[in-house]
Amino acid sequence: MMTFNCLTIFPEMFSAFTGTSLCEKAITKQLVEIGMVNIRDYTEDKHNRVDDYPFGGGAGMLFMPQPLFDSFDMLEKKYAGKRCLNVYMSPAGKTLTQEAARRFAGYDVLNILCGHYEGVDQRVLDHCIDEEVSIGDYVLTGGELPAMVLMDCVMRYVPGVLSNDESVSEESFSGNLLEYPQYTRPSSFRGLEVPEVLLSGHHKNIAAWQRQQALLKTLRERPELLQQAELSDSDRAFLEKSQNRT
Ligand code: SAM
Repeated sequence: MMTFNCLTIFPEMFSAFTGTSLCEKAITKQLVEIGMVNIRDYTEDKHNRVDDYPFGGGAGMLFMPQPLFDSFDMLEKKYAGKRCLNVYMSPAGKTLTQEAARRFAGYDVLNILCGHYEGVDQRVLDHCIDEEVSIGDYVLTGGELPAMVLMDCVMRYVPGVLSNDESVSEESFSGNLLEYPQYTRPSSFRGLEVPEVLLSGHHKNIAAWQRQQALLKTLRERPELLQQAELSDSDRAFLEKSQNRT
């Protein structure tokens, strides 16, 4: 069982995610549990405030340290002895990758701080957070959507969550290649035909075609990934031929 705890001022944002599709099934099967820590429940401010103006000026508000330190103290006590990682969803963090998601799945507990406003007092990041994680080079209003992206991606590595464990290893980014194109029935639709090899039943040819298509797709869309991909001599020869053709 892997535990995710989301530290947020908008716990209600998560209900569609936790109640639908893969996540709902993972929770029902008790493979994953998702807890909400409402940051407001931990404030000592008599008006229930969790944010304040930044010292030195600047636009917007920041989460104050006290409610967050207390929230993390509570989690530390609750999960003492477990392998825990505290992450802050932040556009200024390292961009989430498939490899990082696989690594995060190795923890028992992932505590995910969702920022809002202009962000979070730096002392929280320095003392409570192990890693800052971005979901891409753009700025969103809050960390809740990024937290759902992170949990979705990580829980796919929790054993039993996907019905077929193979499917994580065949998806895009595994081995640093993008996934090959796929087709379903009908084999002919509006005059658009499925590649013949896929209908041949010849598994070796199909696998070779899929490999080449994955190489081509990666070459076209994300050529930088090829630098880290595990490539055979025949992969390299195929790529060279394809590059010369373009
Ligand atoms: N002032 C911050 C900055 O420039 O880095 C942006 C704050 S943003 C408006 C509010 C919150 O949304 C952040 O604290 C973070 O939790 C979340 N957020 C926004 N964009 C994100 C991204 N690309 N990845 C992860 N979290 C993000």
